[in-house]
Amino acid sequence: MGSLRGAFRQLLWAFCRRRPSPVLYRELGHPRPPRASPADTNHRQRRRRNSGHRRGPRRVVLGAVRKLPHSPRARGPGHPLHRVRAQAGRVGARGRTPGRTRSAEGRVRGEAAPARERSDRRHGCPAQGASHRAQWICAGTPANFRGSRRIVTHAGTTEGLPSFSHGVHPEEHKGATESLPIERMPFVSHYVLPLAQHIGRPSKCIVRPGQHVQRGERIADPNGFVSTALHAPVTGTVEAVELRPHPNGKLAESIVIAIDAFASQEMQEPQKPEGGAGGPNGSSRIDGFVRRVQEAGIVGLGGAAFPSHVKLQVPEGKKVTTVVLNGCECEPYLTCDHRVMLEDADKVVRGMRLIMQQLGAAHGYIGVERNKSDAIETLRAALSQNDSQNDSQKGSIEIIALQVKYPQGAEKMLIDAVLHERVPAGGLPLDLEIVVHNVATASAIADMVENDTPLIERVITVTGDGVRRPANVVVPLGTPIAAVLEHCGGLKPEARQVILGGPMMGVAQKELDVPVVKGTSGILALTQPQRVVGEQPCIRCGRCLDACPMFLNPARLAQLVRNERAEGLLSHHVMSCFECASCSFVCPSHIPLVHLIRVGKAMARKVAVP
Ligand code: SF4
Ligand code: SF4
Repeated sequence: MGSLRGAFRQLLWAFCRRRPSPVLYRELGHPRPPRASPADTNHRQRRRRNSGHRRGPRRVVLGAVRKLPHSPRARGPGHPLHRVRAQAGRVGARGRTPGRTRSAEGRVRGEAAPARERSDRRHGCPAQGASHRAQWICAGTPANFRGSRRIVTHAGTTEGLPSFSHGVHPEEHKGATESLPIERMPFVSHYVLPLAQHIGRPSKCIVRPGQHVQRGERIADPNGFVSTALHAPVTGTVEAVELRPHPNGKLAESIVIAIDAFASQEMQEPQKPEGGAGGPNGSSRIDGFVRRVQEAGIVGLGGAAFPSHVKLQVPEGKKVTTVVLNGCECEPYLTCDHRVMLEDADKVVRGMRLIMQQLGAAHGYIGVERNKSDAIETLRAALSQNDSQNDSQKGSIEIIALQVKYPQGAEKMLIDAVLHERVPAGGLPLDLEIVVHNVATASAIADMVENDTPLIERVITVTGDGVRRPANVVVPLGTPIAAVLEHCGGLKPEARQVILGGPMMGVAQKELDVPVVKGTSGILALTQPQRVVGEQPCIRCGRCLDACPMFLNPARLAQLVRNERAEGLLSHHVMSCFECASCSFVCPSHIPLVHLIRVGKAMARKVAVP
């Protein structure tokens, strides 16, 4: 009996050593549990840190979640990261980052550091450049460049490369088209050109029914600064100016052109724009260049269709030091930007140079996801060729390989990934002296300057298991999607859904006579609708929080929408949501979060602007 009691006591002692409990200690006749020594406490903390433990339920989003330790300053001078930073001349005696005028990089006193370098300093990156930072993270060094933010890693080949926080890893589905060269779509009989093809005010129609127009001729003028021109994609006759179905699901005023079957389809002779030739050379012709981009109808070709000239006009009192080109193409299925980077790499680099020259930016970065390694190599080769041909060019351009993650192509996420800088909520990249363009937009700008070509066609990806012959196609704007699908062999009988754009942010179409517009990056035909499981109640798993790249609470937002609490939506920053659908993608209850949030944004707009 005595030995049994002894064994029980020993067991209790062992338990108490792990978890000191005053109740157990009292039972054992001790006044209070012994205090843990500082060494033990530190060790436990270290273990907690290294094991990735954190308070609350553990949430893993499509990969390992690591909680990295706090800043090197908090770790003190003994911390390895602190030592390396000190060697790099980036920390003071007490771990503080030295002021701007104490330049260890040999920069002139008072001169602003480039955005990437500034950010590296802030986050404690021991050396400039993504590769160094990647090595540190790969090596498991306790280097937290982002304070207490968790870093979501993907158990794939891209782990360790730079990226943004949160996000998801949808299946890529790019294999069907990523190796197919861009082909040209033959002309069809009719083209429908909505006047609203960009963000901002719709263009102003300047043609009337019965008028003959030539390919490349302007048919609509910009209607204000945030608006662009529109050009005839073919030589033909204006048949009507009327309401036609738009890819956004509404009816929109559109110009219908019937092709002239006997015309040669030569481009119209370029007209000299008002305000000079408009080369971006830092002279008084800069305004001419911006106007020229506007009159060429160039918009962001990544999908948002924001007028590009607006981003090329630096407002009074602002400046741009860094240009970032988006070559991520993070949407599953789409490969049009990938093909542009492969087939027009030199044009992308020339377009980048023109944009940098126009904005006076000294630093340029092209962010490309690692799953497009051939594009990274091609761009690097084009860049070195461009540099060797033009020794006098100002500004440096770097190609940055990024992790494969969605929605990395979004402006703010790309800046976070490439430059490790956060655009403040409600702010613009311009607030950080950064401007972001798409690789296809840069190529279009180079085309405009070198060949006087307005935006009358674009590359799109036609793909999905519901289409017979997936392809990357150059399509004249205004071509009905039914004609494009027909060019690609037509739809399979089992096709159930056609989406314009990618599966995450694209818009499902109810009819196939809507046209390809400037923002159309792909036509996706699926054999089954994306959602086949019914909606279930929220189980409070928190996956949507972990996925949201804007650090919103999608579950709470959805609840507020259902309760029609518009003020609550505003206080929960519903307007910061850019509808990437990452939250809907990860929700195990299949709650249509992004759709609810879209409704919530409309409700919040009504309250904000009564
Ligand atoms: S759709 Fe909005 S709320 Fe949902 S993950 Fe994207 S940004 Fe966050
Ligand atoms: S909305 Fe979905 S993902 Fe978000 S907490 Fe609820 S069940 Fe989880």
